[in-house]
Parts: sequence; structure tokens; C-alpha cells
Amino acid sequence: MPNKTLYQAVIGLEIHAQLATNSKLFCGDATSFGADPNTHISPITLGHPGTLPKTNSKAVEYAIKMGLACGSTIAKENYFARKNYFYADLPKGYQISQDSTPICGGGQVSIQTKDGEKQIQLNRIHLEEDAGKSIHDLSPTDTLIDLNRAGTPLIEIVTEPCIHSAEDAFLYVTEVRKLVRWLGICDGNMEEGSLRCDANISVRLNGDNTLGTRVEVKNLNSIRNIKKAIEFEIERLIGLVENGTPIMQQTRSFDASNDTTFAIRDKEDANDYRYFPDPDLAPLQLTDAYLQSIQSNLPALPNTLKKEWTAQFGLNAYDVDQLCDNKQEADFYLLWTKHTNLYKAAANFIIGPIRAYLNADGKTYSDLITLLPKLSELLAMVDQQLLSFSVATEKVLPAVLKDGASPTNFASANALLQNSDEGALTAWIQEVLSNHPDKVDAYKKGKKGLIGVFVGEVKKMSKGQADPQKTTKILEAILSN
Ligand code: ADP
Ligand code: MG
Repeated sequence: MPNKTLYQAVIGLEIHAQLATNSKLFCGDATSFGADPNTHISPITLGHPGTLPKTNSKAVEYAIKMGLACGSTIAKENYFARKNYFYADLPKGYQISQDSTPICGGGQVSIQTKDGEKQIQLNRIHLEEDAGKSIHDLSPTDTLIDLNRAGTPLIEIVTEPCIHSAEDAFLYVTEVRKLVRWLGICDGNMEEGSLRCDANISVRLNGDNTLGTRVEVKNLNSIRNIKKAIEFEIERLIGLVENGTPIMQQTRSFDASNDTTFAIRDKEDANDYRYFPDPDLAPLQLTDAYLQSIQSNLPALPNTLKKEWTAQFGLNAYDVDQLCDNKQEADFYLLWTKHTNLYKAAANFIIGPIRAYLNADGKTYSDLITLLPKLSELLAMVDQQLLSFSVATEKVLPAVLKDGASPTNFASANALLQNSDEGALTAWIQEVLSNHPDKVDAYKKGKKGLIGVFVGEVKKMSKGQADPQKTTKILEAILSN
């Protein structure tokens, strides 16, 4: 068995994110997923001679948004370069990408690990067009080509080789997906290929400052698979080193059927793509005013909200992480805080029952906005102990959400208001105790845990109306005699 503790894994990730623009990077063809093959292919997409590309400004804006959100430096002057290679799904014979002037340089993405917050350093974020799709598994004899995807705008987000575990890689990709969705620049859907990740992995002895020879694993179409592939590769590479087998720079593919990787090609040291500035495209000149306008329209980021909401609303970091998992949910929460000052209770309602209701009923937060005054009333009723939390969430909330019921009217019409009237409570308690003489005996002999059983019985008998705190107090008083 190799001694894994002697080695450090080094991982650098390249994430391609498809930008959520309506049209392609250099022409008006639609970018919609799932259209019939080869239906969004103008002469520009097909690379016909004499056609001229024109840059989609929305794609440029989206790339800048990502850069600003990551604290990257935006290159005010940058240009597109041709990356030359031959492949059947690349009709022009080159991909328009960026080489020495990526639109965003540096920056970082912070992840929350078991050992605290870590910053994953970015090398660059650049803009490029996607290639078409080669389909190998539809025909037994031929490869089919669908060029709908050719020319779709992508950003490629490249980290420094600064990640040292499969777990941190997993957290990083999760964070990037969350961020692109938060910014509204990519749908983050890995199954449809809107977010794709290649993982570069090497190992070295602890304390070694030089990088080991890397392998690159492609075709990682879920975050889980990224983690599995990296775990497998780290183990495999350490095994090779321990055996004295030289590591070859290789491109590998992940096999999800058995969580392993296999070599697809050996990589020559330097690919010669003969990059040169695309003569058909003017360099991008970004003014300060333009960058400023994008910056000022950037939504507040989850990390900022974590600081603000823990301070202003008394939430804990976990609550904020939960709420910020989804921008619609976070926006809804913020709107709710304008209707109530029961901030923590509102967060609990969203993270628990409201989320469950939306999942089950296929509704969205925008359907609930008109209900905010009623939902706030419900929070207040719980706060004033007119309703128990369980009755409020299990009985009243569904009526508010489904039928827009008034919590006060619904609770009183259905006799759900919590009863803290001492006489009524005592009557229920007496009845429960006389039904369970053996348990009363056991309690008096020291099985104090039975108090919960009695409270439960009283709750049942009162159909949920008995105020549990008062019930407990009265029970304790009666049983201590
Ligand atoms: P390429 O042009 O082949 O894509 P790059 O230099 O752009 O190579 O690097 C691609 C990714 O690989 C980056 O995320 C980088 O951090 C990572 N990387 C480079 N060298 C190593 C290495 N020895 N071990 C692990 N990751 C590496
Ligand atoms: Mg690469």
C-alpha cells in the first residue's frame, strides 16, 4: 500500500461555463439547447468564406460580471485570437478564443471548508466560442456532427494549481456553479453541458516546490464525478510514483460506470495552436464608465450577505448559506424582512416548510410575494404563542400558501388557536394522568423523562391546542404532589 501521507496532490481546474445569452458569440444564431440538429447554423457559424463575425456585447458583459464578482482585474483592452486546429466539429479550422489577453486576470473564489475559509486563486477568465458536437453513439458506422453549439459563448475559468484535495475541488466547483447562477450568466446545468470541468492533477512529495507531471481528466459531467475522478487519479498517480513508473502527461476520461479513468491520448508538451489576433474582430476597448456601470448593477454577493444578514437579522452562517443557495429564495427572504421583524423565524419558515411546499407543488417564490403580509401575520401568531410552531407550519401555513387563507380566520374557524387557559389545560391533564396510572407511578419513582409522554398525550387530546410550555409547568406542579 502506498503511503499517501508522504505526498501532496496538486489540482488545477478549468471550468467552461456557457453564457446564458440568447444568441451566439459572433452572430445572431440562437443558443437554445435541445433544438433539432443543425438548425441554428448561419453562414457565420459554418465559417463560410467572406462572412464577418460581430461580438455579442451581452457575452462580454457577462464575462466582466464574473470577473468583478471574483475580484479579477478586467483588461480594458483585450482581443480575440484564433486557436488553430483541425476537427470535424470546427468548420472554420480555428476556434475564436483569447490567448495572451484574457478579459479577466487573477481573482479568487472563496470556499468554506471543514478547516475554515480558503481562497482558490484564479489564473484567468477568458471568453471563447464553443465548438460543435460530434456524436459517436447514434450510428454504428459514422460520427454525426451537430453544429448548433458551434459559436456558443463560453467563459473559461482557470485556477492556479492551488487545490490540494478532491473535497476542496468539489467545494470550488459547487461555489462557481452557485456564483454563475447567482449572477444570472449561466444556468449551471452540468447534464446539459452548460458547465463543464476539466481537472488537471499531479502529485509531489510533501515540501517539494516543483510541480509534478500532470494528467488532465475530461468529460466530468457532474460535481460528484469530478470528486471521484480526482480521488481515483491521486491514488493512481501516487501508486505510479511509488512503483518508480514515470508519469506521462496524458489526457484521460472518466468512466462513470466504475469511477475510474482511462487514457485517451498522450499529450505532447506544447500544443502548437499558432494563436494570432483575429483580424476580423476589432479589439475590445472597455471604458471605465462601462465597467463602472456593470459594477454598480452587480447583485450583492452571498459572502457580503453573510456578513450583513448575520449582523442585521441575527441569522447564523448556516441560515445564510441555505438562503443564498438560490437567488430567488434569497431575494424573497430580503423582501420578507420588509414586512416583518421576526427575521430568524422568517428564515426558519423558508428553509423548512415553505421550501418543502414549493418543491412539492412546483410553485416558485414569485407566486408567494402577494402572500407576504399573511405569512408575516402567521409568524406573529407563533411569536405571541397563539399558535404552536407545529400547528402553524403543518396546518395553517398550507392553507395560507394554497388558498391565500387569513391565518387568524383559519386558525379560529378550525379551533387551532393554542389554549393556555389554565382551567382547560388542567382538565386535559387530569384526564391524561388518570388514563395512565402506571406511568404516573413510574414518573414518581424517578422516570422523569415520561413528562414528554404526558405532554404529547395532552397535545393529542386537545387536538394540538394545548400550549406545550404551560402544559409542562402545570404537569410538573401536579406530579410533584
Ligand atoms: P493548458 O494550456 O494545457 O490548458 P494551462 O497552463 O492553461 O494548460 O493549465 C491548465 C490548468 O492546469 C490550470 O488550472 C493549471 O493550474 C493546471 N496545472 C498546470 N500544471 C499543473 C500541474 N503540474 N499539476 C496540476 N495542475 C496543473
Ligand atoms: Mg487545458
